[in-house]
Amino acid sequence: MARPTSATVHTDALRHNLSQVRRRAPNSRVMAVVKADGYGHGLERVARALSGADAFGVAALSDAERLRAAGLSQPVVLLSGFNDAEDIGQLRRLNVETVVHHASQLQMLEQAAPGTPIRCWLKLDTGMHRLGFAPEDVREAHARLQAAPAVDADIVLMNHFASSDEFIGSASHGRQTREQLRVFAEATAGLPGARSLANSAAVLGWPDAHFDWVRPGGALYGISVVEGTTGADFDLRPAMTLATRLIAVNRIRRGERIGYSATWECPEDMPVGVAAIGYGDGYPRRVPAGTPVLVNGARAAIVGRVSMDLMTIDLRTQPDARPGDPVVLWGDPLPVETIAAAAGTIGYEPVCSITRRVRFVED
Ligand SMILES: *Cc1c(COP(=O)(O)O)cnc(C)c1O
Repeated sequence: MARPTSATVHTDALRHNLSQVRRRAPNSRVMAVVKADGYGHGLERVARALSGADAFGVAALSDAERLRAAGLSQPVVLLSGFNDAEDIGQLRRLNVETVVHHASQLQMLEQAAPGTPIRCWLKLDTGMHRLGFAPEDVREAHARLQAAPAVDADIVLMNHFASSDEFIGSASHGRQTREQLRVFAEATAGLPGARSLANSAAVLGWPDAHFDWVRPGGALYGISVVEGTTGADFDLRPAMTLATRLIAVNRIRRGERIGYSATWECPEDMPVGVAAIGYGDGYPRRVPAGTPVLVNGARAAIVGRVSMDLMTIDLRTQPDARPGDPVVLWGDPLPVETIAAAAGTIGYEPVCSITRRVRFVED
């Protein structure tokens, strides 16, 4: 028998989430961010489901190549920009637009061979201090791009938010995002071109930041990074269900200890289920005992350490559970955000971490 572990991708949820983004940002075009293999959901699968998006955002030219090979003809934007002069030919061949965030890229574009002009998204660093031109350097960068024959004169202006998951009503009052908005407006005043600032959290909580293009990733997969919330709080639906089955149910005596390093002790004689999933499938090893799973659709708790291929589950709440019964690790109605919080991370990480031995199914 094949291993019973599977990740089901719900394409109707992806489409629903795209329509929710459009509802919240009705005057913006939507770049669906599909980096990291569509946040672990499968690049081509996600892009086909989201073919109604106005563009796709990727982190690697190889992803752009895969989208074109899959027959997708929408605009594609290389979010981290190109690294080598040779990439410029690839951008043209694949008809891919690129972020320009550094002087080294300006130079390569200025020296590029003549050919089809490349559409550029000029990125400002308005305070996140990862990628982008300093505000005081933006006008010069913009002028140089406009003057470069290899560059399309229609240049988009963008930035990226560091803390847009903190909304106006939060403890920080959204201070950093308000400051980034102010810096962006000041640095780009009078410059022509479309504006693009908003990631998922800004789509959800910062309507003033929507402008011409929004760039949601996580929201399309139904995942919220706003602390203490899940996608459902914003009418989003999880696009993935990670599931497996019980392969054993054992009665373990009171006082016996479960799993590696014997970290969990049975408080009474009790049934303990063993599910065919572990960190070798991408389930986070670092979740503590008590982290929920669904057995036959009802909540049960992980006990002991998650191991490579297996995990152990307290079945006192479901004494009738049998080998073969279904176990859901995340997916409606058990949000991946809950599991991520237990593992000390955000919901994006577990979905991006699923390994190749997990079978992907689409519904
Ligand atoms: C990843 C990324 C996004 C999407 O972020 P989410 O939080 O997933 O919405 C948007 N813009 C850029 C530049 C990114 O790198």
